[in-house]
Amino acid sequence: AASILWLRRDLRRGDLPALGRAAEAADGGSVLVLFVLDPALWKGAGPVRRAWLAATLEAAREAYDGRLCLRVGDPAKVVPSVVEEVGAGSVHVSRETTPAGVRRDSAVAASLAEAGVDWVETGTPYAVGPGSITNGSGDPYKVFTPFSRAWRDHGWPAPATEPSGVTFARVASDDDGWKTLREARKADGLPDLPDAGEEAALSRWREFLDDALTAYKGDRDRADRPGTSRLSPYLKIGAVHPRTLLAELDGRTGQGAQTFETELCWREFYADVLWHNPRSSWHDLRPALSGITYEDNEDLVEAWKGGRTGYPVVDAAMRQLLTEGWMHNRMRMVTASFLTKDLHVWWPVGARHFLDHLLDGDIASNNHGWQWVAGTGTDASPYFRVFNPITQGQRFDPQGDYVRRYVPELAHIPGKAVHEPWKHDEGYDHDYPERIVDHAEERREALRRYEAARGSQ
Ligand code: FAD
Repeated sequence: AASILWLRRDLRRGDLPALGRAAEAADGGSVLVLFVLDPALWKGAGPVRRAWLAATLEAAREAYDGRLCLRVGDPAKVVPSVVEEVGAGSVHVSRETTPAGVRRDSAVAASLAEAGVDWVETGTPYAVGPGSITNGSGDPYKVFTPFSRAWRDHGWPAPATEPSGVTFARVASDDDGWKTLREARKADGLPDLPDAGEEAALSRWREFLDDALTAYKGDRDRADRPGTSRLSPYLKIGAVHPRTLLAELDGRTGQGAQTFETELCWREFYADVLWHNPRSSWHDLRPALSGITYEDNEDLVEAWKGGRTGYPVVDAAMRQLLTEGWMHNRMRMVTASFLTKDLHVWWPVGARHFLDHLLDGDIASNNHGWQWVAGTGTDASPYFRVFNPITQGQRFDPQGDYVRRYVPELAHIPGKAVHEPWKHDEGYDHDYPERIVDHAEERREALRRYEAARGSQ
């Protein structure tokens, strides 16, 4: 019988264990590679992630020699109907672990079971599947460092090799499917997208290994340098699997390789946290701040979103997000701190904005990253730690190049003076906005609110 390989967050051909299983199950028959465009998810994704998905799917279609069948509709209906159409005996996937993915998959698996069709989960988008690691008492880890030790001890399999001689079935796509994708790539106001797909991901990775890995430990915090891999959009969509990267780090002993492995582990940690706490996607993971009061000032939130807060490094970062669909990690922390601690806005407001604009927008990494900054997440990042948007700029963009790249109103201020336009005679000559709040004052206010909330518990 034929088998179906249903792709979701694994839009690639290499290092894909589910493909091997699908080929085995087909036993000489053909494998149908399927993607289901779910209108509910598509609508919620926002133009940036829609365009990235579209570009990645087009690259995947090429990688499968044109044999990627695209269907539009609710997977719980579409998958069983494609099964019937091709007479498949099994459906193969990489196991999904987000709350929405788990719900969807159990609905699909249940309807397949009624029809006597096998549902086979092989691998996950992670080196170590969420839920696989627990501590000595069988409980999930709540703190990163012990998790990362257990994660390394657990280890992961070598990358999967592609089975040879697979015949991919040629089955018609829905007429409007590819057209919808082409239109998504032409939406107004999109950021410049990087090249999409597996090949682009691997060449980005090679470039990073050659140019930046050695200095990664020191450079990863520098917003002005191309010191990080920028692989997150590819990892998010599964154009490359972390196992592929980890295998190539193996045997490299430098600090760069070690640090990079640790960063990949953060991604795995947050997926594990979400698996154990599905509610933490949009609710406080720890009730550390229950009872704290938040502001709902639309003008301030809009100034933050548009990069018009009057704090140069915050504005540069928020504009980087809009123009590139990506933001430097250090700046994600600084801008998240600014929204939650300087503007006293509840973290999900910022998390939503990030998800709407990031190519790598990922519910586990994003929403737990936000909670880490807000002080409700893992690792008990203390609420009273408030990032100073001026000194952060001076430290991580020491010459001011990052600010000048994204904030043309400040391009005339040389060197690090760009971080404090209020001290510069011509600081406001080109319509750069005045600071919307006073950082020192708002820092005190954040701490006041925190103390009041603690007192009321
Ligand atoms: P590199 O430094 O090259 O790191 C390699 C890979 O490790 C990344 O691609 C990523 O997969 C992983 N990684 C690195 N740092 C982290 C981290 N702190 N948490 C989880 N994984 C990490 N990452 C996302 O992939 N999607 C998001 O939506 C997202 N939202 C974030 C929101 C906030 C408020 C914060 C503080 C962090 C967020 N991150 C998110 C984590 C991190 O900022 C990005 O993964 C990183 O900036 C991506 O750039 P890179 O690929 O060049 O990273």
